[in-house]
Amino acid sequence: MTERQWLVLASRNAGKTGELRELLKDFPIEIKNLDDFGPIPPVEEDGTTFDENAYKKAAFTAKVLGLPTLADDSGLKVDALGGLPGVHSARYAGPNASDTDNSAKLWREMKGKTNRTATFVCVISIAVPSGMALTYEGRCEGLIAEAPAGENGFGYDPLFYYPPLNRTFAQLSLEEKNQVSHRGKAMAQLKEEFNQALTWIRQKL
Ligand code: IMP
Repeated sequence: MTERQWLVLASRNAGKTGELRELLKDFPIEIKNLDDFGPIPPVEEDGTTFDENAYKKAAFTAKVLGLPTLADDSGLKVDALGGLPGVHSARYAGPNASDTDNSAKLWREMKGKTNRTATFVCVISIAVPSGMALTYEGRCEGLIAEAPAGENGFGYDPLFYYPPLNRTFAQLSLEEKNQVSHRGKAMAQLKEEFNQALTWIRQKL
């Protein structure tokens, strides 16, 4: 029997952990998260790209724990705002801003703007303790709505209008959103290439 490989998710979020376990359930892998270990110093997400932040989180945690680690970073890039909120998506309206505060700021900044194109981006990085890493990326293009609509999802979902389905992300079910979203696409790519990723991890450990 093949030995089960440990993979740490650099997060304490139970929802994200469950989602990753479900996605990779058919592989000989055991997903741990930061709650399975003692205190770990926090990583500052001060990179200028999603790639940089995902890699920073994955590589730092892999080094500290001596185990292969997966981390993700995501956010919304709005063309009329020069790519903002971008890597600042979670803290756009300030360090302790809520999803509602961030969306309200985006909505204000977009008042009167005619170019409303925007892209959600999600980058997943898997790093080994030596620092080498694999990267997966998903994108989803849409428009910033004139007014928020819908109750589902989180973050900027009520303001992200997805033309092919003629609804905002907050008006989609989770299944519908996962089929087309940046995170859904990055996760699908990860699953599709996970056998190669496992071989790579084992070679690098
Ligand atoms: P992360 O958890 O560091 O990747 O930060 C992601 C931030 O980007 C969240 O706090 C949201 O503001 C935004 N974001 C990322 N993905 C989504 C999404 O699917 N819907 C709405 N907002 C999102």
